[in-house]
Amino acid sequence: MSFVEVVIKVPLPRTFDYLLIEAQTVTVGCRVEVSFANRTLVALVVALKNHSNVPANKIKPIARIIDCYPILSAQHIELLRFTAQYYCHPLGETLFTALPASLRSGEHPDKTTVATVTLTAKGAELPKLRSKKQQALLSQLAGSGASSVTELKALGFTKQQIDALQEKALVEKSLEHDTKWTQAPRTINSKPRLNEEQAAAFSVINQQQGYRTFLLEGITGSGKTEVYLQCLEKIVNSGRQALVLVPEIGLTPQTVNRFRRRFPDTPIDLWHSNLTDNERLHVWRRTEQGSCALVIGTRSSIFLPFKNLGMMVVDEEHDSSFKQQDGLRYHARDLAVYRSAHANIPLILGTATPALETLHKAINNKFQLLTLSKRAETKVANQFLLIDMKGQIEQGGFAPSTLQHIERTLACAKQVMVFLNRRGYAPTLLCHECGWLSQCTHCSASTTFHKAMARLVCHHCSQQSYVPAQCPDCGSTQIMPVGLGTEQLEDFLKGHFPDTPISRIDRDSTRRKGALETALADINAGGSRILVGTQMLAKGHHFADVNLVVMLDVDGGLYSSDFRATEHMAQLITQVAGRAGRSGEPGTVLLQTHFPDHPLLQDLVNNGYQDFARYALKERQEVELPPYTHLALVRVEGTNAKLVIDFLTDLVPATPYSGIQLLGPIPAPMERVAGKYRYQLHIQAPERPVLHRYLAQLLSYISEHKLANRVRWSIDIDPMDT
Ligand code: ADP
Ligand code: ZN
Ligand code: ZN
Repeated sequence: MSFVEVVIKVPLPRTFDYLLIEAQTVTVGCRVEVSFANRTLVALVVALKNHSNVPANKIKPIARIIDCYPILSAQHIELLRFTAQYYCHPLGETLFTALPASLRSGEHPDKTTVATVTLTAKGAELPKLRSKKQQALLSQLAGSGASSVTELKALGFTKQQIDALQEKALVEKSLEHDTKWTQAPRTINSKPRLNEEQAAAFSVINQQQGYRTFLLEGITGSGKTEVYLQCLEKIVNSGRQALVLVPEIGLTPQTVNRFRRRFPDTPIDLWHSNLTDNERLHVWRRTEQGSCALVIGTRSSIFLPFKNLGMMVVDEEHDSSFKQQDGLRYHARDLAVYRSAHANIPLILGTATPALETLHKAINNKFQLLTLSKRAETKVANQFLLIDMKGQIEQGGFAPSTLQHIERTLACAKQVMVFLNRRGYAPTLLCHECGWLSQCTHCSASTTFHKAMARLVCHHCSQQSYVPAQCPDCGSTQIMPVGLGTEQLEDFLKGHFPDTPISRIDRDSTRRKGALETALADINAGGSRILVGTQMLAKGHHFADVNLVVMLDVDGGLYSSDFRATEHMAQLITQVAGRAGRSGEPGTVLLQTHFPDHPLLQDLVNNGYQDFARYALKERQEVELPPYTHLALVRVEGTNAKLVIDFLTDLVPATPYSGIQLLGPIPAPMERVAGKYRYQLHIQAPERPVLHRYLAQLLSYISEHKLANRVRWSIDIDPMDT
């Protein structure tokens, strides 16, 4: 008798046995169909065996074999097994999370193709077109050579625009992709000579045989990307593949274009959340078959099944978007470390502002630290100014001296960037007579006033409501916005600098497809003089003419209950500051604060992030927080607060477990979201194995618990928002 052990996408931490009937042959990594709880489900074979503990009269045969060839290699299953075990997540759900949706639903792996677009001879002459977008598409193709439809879409172009050019016979689409790239000689376009520090970093990485994680710590503009490009050149030239993980692709079309231009005839694929199911499957298959050399991808590209991976790069490794915040709560950077060690290849983590966890490992020589301390193109450093807001008479959120700085910068024909991490007009409405505040009825949060939409919007559950003309509590008409949002800043600046073109970049202003690309192009062409925006503005853009950066709300990060708040604030300030002065002249970074003497802020502006981070690490060590201890959270939510608390209370053992510290149940930072109450239990241990041993016990206790099915619970390893 032969049996197969399979996993199914169910939230149960176990595998299931089925019977293999004669003449059925199947291998590990193949999909089969099985009957499970009266439904037919897709399952994945994880082991073959001669014996099963399921009684012979209970075991069911597999219904159908889907694949003759495995869709996951044994090595890949191993990575996912580790992921499941490390993140305390059921193996079935982990495997199925990693698979593209089409494979999850049992489709054939080769069912899709994605067209490649190339210029025709007529298109290559770059004729003048009436449509600006179509013209931009032509120039894009002229610069980058053949591009897949997927990639063009990631850069903000639409299918309609591509089709329009095809009708005019300026481009052609083809379905073949170059599977021979590993043998073909490749062109490498001209590259700059590395400076001394870059050359040193490059030579260390380039000589590395086998696994090693490098932390490439270099300020913005110090030429990290150039180092990646030159290291990847060797990998690609030797016929191996590489993965470059980035926080968000839509925000950094420039990065993608840079790779394309450097490696013009090397197949490069993009992987991000805006792909269709077909496009996903297509990229998945290309990595597996070795048809593409490079993938530039967001978080989940860490699960792509590369045939012959030679190197990984995680750009902006500190970025919190690498951590998945629901379901399988993995951290793509941490998995990259595991994966590269397992595949025995080098890994580069690049950033101007390393996460404290990463820096800690570099200081302890688990990672190798490589530093780029100078800007590649200019040698000048930015100047920080702290504006003490105490007692200032603000105008639209700005101190008088801030406005003077803006005025002076504009007069020198330079651009200004104003940064506030809150979109909308104002974070809440207030009744002047009775103190009523606009609150979301489903969340423990206020609703944000959006003036242009004339709506109140909850940023946590997205519920919208009309702006009341009268106070719902006392009937007064004296309702006013309190606090600042980017929409209000834009309004105020338009009034204050009436002749100055202003662009706003936040999730509201860029919701329309292509709006972000248009705004960025406008900024780069010099059209806008003042850029107002949220976090989105801070990420990776190159704006040559920005000479002044103004940050309005640094105080929130100084006094927060989240122990990572100061770290994140310092990263943000440093990243945003990196936007200033890229053109050759030193830029100015102006921080408005009520606490100009705060020691961390002082350290950051006087001595830079490197110094700040090392000081912050000492603080973490003193109070025994990560990375000096390891943390896990049990998160529980439900509509009935009592059940949630009872369940968590019951998880706390009567006698302490040696080496484990528990804290809770305590309310989550947002106690109620979308009508659900949220509580958590903090679990802390100085040793990771102790933590994992404890969690294994806890999980088996939870799986038997009578309340476990009546609330939603999850375990978060190395949580980011505590
Ligand atoms: P980072 O990734 O650290 O922000 P980049 O690699 O983007 O830095 O480099 C910043 C700018 O400097 C880019 O325009 C890049 O083309 C240029 N650059 C990088 N290295 C060199 C070099 N060795 N010589 C000249 N220019 C360089
Ligand atoms: Zn009122
Ligand atoms: Zn809400």
